Amino acid sequence: MLSIRQLSLTYADGTQALRDINLQLPHGMVGLLGPNGAGKSTLMRTLACLQTADKGDIQFNDIDVIKQPMALRQKLGYLPQYFGVYPHMSCRVLLQHMAILKGLNDKTSQKHQIDSLLELTNLTAVANKAVSTFSGGMRQRFGIAQALLGDPKLLIMDEPTAGLDPAERERLHSLLVNISQEKLILLSTHIVEDIENLCPYVALINEGQIVESGAVQQLLLPL
Ligand code: ADP
Ligand code: ADP
Repeated sequence: MLSIRQLSLTYADGTQALRDINLQLPHGMVGLLGPNGAGKSTLMRTLACLQTADKGDIQFNDIDVIKQPMALRQKLGYLPQYFGVYPHMSCRVLLQHMAILKGLNDKTSQKHQIDSLLELTNLTAVANKAVSTFSGGMRQRFGIAQALLGDPKLLIMDEPTAGLDPAERERLHSLLVNISQEKLILLSTHIVEDIENLCPYVALINEGQIVESGAVQQLLLPL
């Protein structure tokens, strides 16, 4: 359970990106749906401890996220919207570097984990190719593989379907459904179909405020 209370964040230029956000999110797939500029990225970066709120509390299970960012990081996988990493390196080598950054130092279990993530994200055949040669869908799947290193209990993904064609989006959807057990997967999107196909629970955000949240059947009724 992720619990957000009275979270507010104003940028240096005076933009109020988050205004008194209150949210209780259950495990499973949760969608954060809102138009560009609504505050999705700001909220996700704040949840991932990459940005500091002006006020408010975030609790993930027994972790006080704002007071114990290091404790959260061990349970967190994060896919930023713009994922820039030394693209000349091969997919496998990049994952090895990222595994070390996550503290996965044991070579045998590291290899085992990387092999199974490559398999899961369907990248085994291209594991030794440079990420710079990857298509948008392959890059996105690589981004998911790196976010899943260390088996995080909280997975935050900022617009993971951005730039994907329908077939790639479908593949990504199946992958996410398969890994969603025992995790809270929060994904942001401005595409309503992503939510309908994928997320039983949704929060609608606009102008830095949560407009509504709840079970998707109750919020996204057909007109
Ligand atoms: P979304 O992800 O929903 O598009 P963002 O969180 O990126 O929304 O942005 C929320 C608001 O904050 C927007 O008005 C955006 O222009 C503004 N914003 C985002 N980042 C910054 C920043 N670093 N400095 C100032 N304003 C920002
Ligand atoms: P997103 O919607 O995912 O935040 P944006 O294109 O709005 O993507 O933002 C891309 C980057 O630019 C982010 O790092 C964001 O913080 C920054 N940014 C967005 N709006 C502003 C702004 N008004 N002033 C300064 N930086 C901004």
